[in-house]
Amino acid sequence: MKKYIVIKNPDFNKKENNRYAIVMNQETRNLCLMVVYQPDLFNKTNYHIATTVANLGSPSSSFCLVKMDDTYLRFFDKMPTVFEPVIMHELGHFVHRDYDESKRKKTSTQIYNERILCVMNGIVPMTEILADRFAAENVGASNLIEALRLLIAERQKISEKGSEITIKEFELRIKELERYYMEK
Ligand SMILES: [Zn+2]
Repeated sequence: MKKYIVIKNPDFNKKENNRYAIVMNQETRNLCLMVVYQPDLFNKTNYHIATTVANLGSPSSSFCLVKMDDTYLRFFDKMPTVFEPVIMHELGHFVHRDYDESKRKKTSTQIYNERILCVMNGIVPMTEILADRFAAENVGASNLIEALRLLIAERQKISEKGSEITIKEFELRIKELERYYMEK
C-alpha cells in the first residue's frame, strides 16, 4: 500500500494563488511536503523542482517545500498525470535526506557537473535511482515511467538550454526502472 498521498488543491489550475498541494504520510497523518508556486519565497535559494528540495528549518525538519518553476507549471497544466510522480520523486530525495545542508558538501555547480558526467557515461546516480524507487512505490512504477516519457516528449518540443542532458537522463532512469521492476 502506498504510504504517502498527494492532496492537490482542486483549483490548482485556476490561478496563481491556488498553486499548492500537500503530501501526507498516511500512517502518521503528518503533512510532510508542500508544493508551492511562489517565486518570491524562493528567490534567495534559487531552488528548482527537478534538482532539489528546500528543507525548511533544522536538518531534522519533517517538512519541506518544493518550488515549482515556470517550465514545470506548464508541464503540470498540460499533463496533470505527471504531477504526482514528479512530486513523489522530490519527496523521495527529502525522505532520504539527500538535500540536508549538513550532508551536502558540494556546490550546485559541482553537482551539475557530476550529473552531466554521469549522463555522458550512461549512469544514473544512486540518489536518483532511490528517489525513483520511492516514487514508484507510491505511484506505481508504470505511472512513473509514463510520466518520464511524457516529460521527454515535452522537452523535445521546447529545446531549452540543458534539455538534451535532461532527456538523456530521463531515458536512463526509465531503463533503470524497467530493469529493476521487471526483475522483481
Ligand atoms: Zn531527483
